[in-house]
Amino acid sequence: MPVPLLDVNAQNDPLAAALEAAFQRVLRSGQFIMGPEVAAFEADCAPLTGCTHNLGVSSGTDAILLALMALGIGPGDEVIVPAFTFFATAGCVSRVGATPVFADVCPICFNLDPAHAASLITPRTKAMIPVHLFGQMADMDALMALAKSHGLYVIEDAAQAFGASSRGRPAGSFGHFGCYSFFPSKNLGALGDAGLLATSDPALAERARMLRVHGMEPKYCHQGVGGNFRLDTLQAAFLRVKLPHYPSYTAARQANAENYRVALSPLPGLVQADARDCQCLPRQAARLSQSPAASPRLILPVAYPQNEHIWNQYTLRVPGPGQRDALKAHLLGQGIGCEIYYPLSLDQQPCYQNLPQRSDLPVAHLLAQEVLSLPVYPELSRPQQDEVIAAVQRFVAVPA
Ligand SMILES: *Cc1c(COP(=O)(O)O)cnc(C)c1O
Repeated sequence: MPVPLLDVNAQNDPLAAALEAAFQRVLRSGQFIMGPEVAAFEADCAPLTGCTHNLGVSSGTDAILLALMALGIGPGDEVIVPAFTFFATAGCVSRVGATPVFADVCPICFNLDPAHAASLITPRTKAMIPVHLFGQMADMDALMALAKSHGLYVIEDAAQAFGASSRGRPAGSFGHFGCYSFFPSKNLGALGDAGLLATSDPALAERARMLRVHGMEPKYCHQGVGGNFRLDTLQAAFLRVKLPHYPSYTAARQANAENYRVALSPLPGLVQADARDCQCLPRQAARLSQSPAASPRLILPVAYPQNEHIWNQYTLRVPGPGQRDALKAHLLGQGIGCEIYYPLSLDQQPCYQNLPQRSDLPVAHLLAQEVLSLPVYPELSRPQQDEVIAAVQRFVAVPA
């Protein structure tokens, strides 16, 4: 039985009638830009973002871009971003003319390392963009304390963490802005590009709302240079169909991750990452990556007890030269989908080769060589998951 990395049809097929009805409703209304569908979707998102102002936007990327524009970040400014993330986090900083400064990440939770971020702050630093990678929140308590003490803005890239939380507080509600993506492979997937920008600051919300439509207020009078960052009415209508099912999608992802943990962690050569090794806590050496005594074949991801992890990705580390690529080939050879998120850190991207490097980024570089994500999507069946587990078991049974 083939096991894809993601199966959007398995999620959307049961909703086909409701999605077609939503399409018909928008078609008949003749209103394709903004309107009540977008307003209703934005209102429905408030409990998940924990923010009072929720703006539907054209993509997760545009949410980040709009946040930077609303904060007035531009040429001469520096913005600290994790070196290990999807490109958009840094690309948006470059697009507003500011300089992305790459900080290292934690080898356990994969997120921005607050101590390393602190070491990169200069008088030019204006903001930080922590990313809640793979569905688990970065250490926002430490990062917000750091931001406060240096007067920095914080934009949370919660593209992979819509509805994730830490001590019950939603991702995106800690910083000045939270940015979310509804790209089809995200936990809440639209039928195209879509995103959301959230804030609880009324003045920032007003500024972002204006810049979402070319800085226009009132009509044909432009207060600032914005863009067209609107959420399509049709996508809002589709997302309204899917949003009521979102808690069940999240629960299924969490059950799948737990099933992997239970089945895989007893295997010889497998360890689960230990939350006590987290580099975000008082900075300690990354024991797993540096201690020669610990040489596991695979390291399973861990959800910290204070976090609600929503498992956008279930990401293993496969230490040892060539081992990650060997596991990837092994799984693909058996019809099991898997992917490397991400094979290059941001400082390794061709477009950033002329950006002067501030610091070594050993963990980001290590992760780019070691990570591999397994299928964890909600509709993954138990027999499909058993196949993944058996294939991983066969891999670790053969000595490296
Ligand atoms: C997907 C993603 C984005 C961009 O979202 P789009 O909707 O695809 O533009 C930004 N940051 C991260 C971490 C992402 O995973």
